[in-house]
Amino acid sequence: MQKIRAWAAPAAGKPLAPMTIERREPGPRDVVLEILFCGVCHSDIHQARDEWSGGLFPMVPGHEIVGRVSKLGGQVTRFKVGDFAGVGCLVDSCRSCAPCADGLEQFCAKGAAFTYNSTEMDRKTRTYGGYSTRIVVDERYVLRIPANLDPAAAAPLLCAGITTYSPLKQFNCKKGDKVGVVGLGGLGHMAVKLAASMGAEVTMLSTSKSKEADARRLGASGFEITRDERTFEKLAGRFDLIIDTISAPHDYNKYLGMLRVQRTMVVVGVPPEPTPLHAFTLIGGNRRLAGSMIGGIAETQEMLDHCSKHGIVSDVEIIPIEKINEAYERVLRSDVRYRFVIDIASLRG
Ligand code: NAP
Ligand code: ZN
Ligand code: ZN
Repeated sequence: MQKIRAWAAPAAGKPLAPMTIERREPGPRDVVLEILFCGVCHSDIHQARDEWSGGLFPMVPGHEIVGRVSKLGGQVTRFKVGDFAGVGCLVDSCRSCAPCADGLEQFCAKGAAFTYNSTEMDRKTRTYGGYSTRIVVDERYVLRIPANLDPAAAAPLLCAGITTYSPLKQFNCKKGDKVGVVGLGGLGHMAVKLAASMGAEVTMLSTSKSKEADARRLGASGFEITRDERTFEKLAGRFDLIIDTISAPHDYNKYLGMLRVQRTMVVVGVPPEPTPLHAFTLIGGNRRLAGSMIGGIAETQEMLDHCSKHGIVSDVEIIPIEKINEAYERVLRSDVRYRFVIDIASLRG
């Protein structure tokens, strides 16, 4: 075992603080990454505050990891020392069940090993995330970071990028489609960039008037304020696809009304409490409500390659680890433009 510097939430809702964790020595198929940057996802906050319950503490969050390969097991073929590489939300799965065979490892029938707040497939060894200096992961779950992408700004692609890319692909987003993106935060700003890169006409649906100029710069041609009830009347029946990234409780019924007949709204945001849904909302107009969770490993690589081709990265504010608790508060106030990324050099000291 090796000792690694990290920052952890010691217990549910407690401020993050320094901690030493242990990771395994690399096995034959393992890649060792010296972590350079780690994005701060709203899911880190939900989990560090145990809003989804069952949290494993102390918890080292972080699943938007970019680093440089420092060591390889003897059987690793896809990486060499010095490469930039990434780790997203998954570090292992059973590799043999139907979802794993379909490239949907996040739904592994045996339960995937998530990057943190989870266990390895032995169901004993705790996993710890990217608010740490080094990680050891089987090469099957390590992503190649294209050379033309800035490594700090590429980190959020590992969760915010794939979580929005996947539903756009699943629901066949294409040139000319009218796509509504709800909530301009980490996921939302990636959804705008990615949908625009697929040729969609994107409208941003936000509670923050101050974000309008940014939304247009990111690729939205429309911007509407959802605090104004008239927005829902004005846009009734408008969209081919809506991607809903809101992290707090809100009324799905109202947003579904903005879909064209027989079109889909995909929920990716995870409000901590359930939301009532009226059957007529769906029945009227054969409207569809879907969910989507991150993406499998192959699709994550496909997304990174798409971003490389289109020159897409996240808009980031880089912070030292000492600012992490303040950054969480700012995310909760929707005061992030549009992803905090931790410079892991600040943990090395
Ligand atoms: P974020 O950066 O905090 O963005 C969320 C945005 O939602 C905010 O910027 C804000 O946008 C809007 N919002 C916040 N509170 C609101 C409220 N009370 N009413 C209406 N709008 C509100 O968070 P994120 O990192 O993008 O994550 C968003 C959600 O997705 C979280 O719940 C996270 O856990 C979840 N998530 C899911 C997956 C998945 O696999 N499905 C993956 C990653 C994250 P405006 O200021 O524009 O209104
Ligand atoms: Zn995430
Ligand atoms: Zn499996």
